Amino acid sequence: AAFGPKNIIWAVAQGQQAAISIDAFCNGRDVAERPPPHVTLGSQKMGIHEWSYDNEISLEERRKVPLRDQVVALADISAEVELGFDREIGYEETQRCLNCDVQTVFTDKLCIECDACVDICPTDCITFTSNGPEADLRHRLTAPASNLEQAIYVSAALKTGRIMAKDEDVCLHCGLCAERCPTGAWDMRKFLLDMAHAGEAGRYQ
Ligand code: SF4
Ligand code: SF4
Repeated sequence: AAFGPKNIIWAVAQGQQAAISIDAFCNGRDVAERPPPHVTLGSQKMGIHEWSYDNEISLEERRKVPLRDQVVALADISAEVELGFDREIGYEETQRCLNCDVQTVFTDKLCIECDACVDICPTDCITFTSNGPEADLRHRLTAPASNLEQAIYVSAALKTGRIMAKDEDVCLHCGLCAERCPTGAWDMRKFLLDMAHAGEAGRYQ
């Protein structure tokens, strides 16, 4: 079956796994063993209203890639069907990036429950409320979290006994909550996942 770019991505990933197993075999380790990945979260804050990433939110709709005329495409097997975007539209498409590698990180001990982040969040994805069973809590969020495949983040109990719940499904990663927070309880941090590679014996414990 053809899956487009997935074919190449899977081939590279499986080649990497095979290399790790071969390396393990040659060094007398269990070929199925994999060392844990390295994970880092680095703050992107550069000033009170300044981040190292572009946090502007684009309201542009997603555009369809223009296609070659069917008569031409069907007559010539070597003719590329997708024509791609021109420079201007390509640039606008890049502005729709939601910076999914930049995470909202909440430090409960720093929160004074002023609710300023709730007021400024453009998508209502932050809620301070009493804790409860997940099914109930999902419906009590400011914007009900109906996508059951997306886990909701629930903090530890805060000083008033409430919890902070956040629905990542609707977060734009705009950083406004972190800009508004007076105590730095919200921070925008870049997430980096570094998987093991063959030849990294030092990663095994
Ligand atoms: S990053 Fe933006 S959308 Fe996400 S929780 Fe903060 S204010 Fe809301
Ligand atoms: S703005 Fe900061 S201190 Fe205020 S409720 Fe939100 S996280 Fe807590």
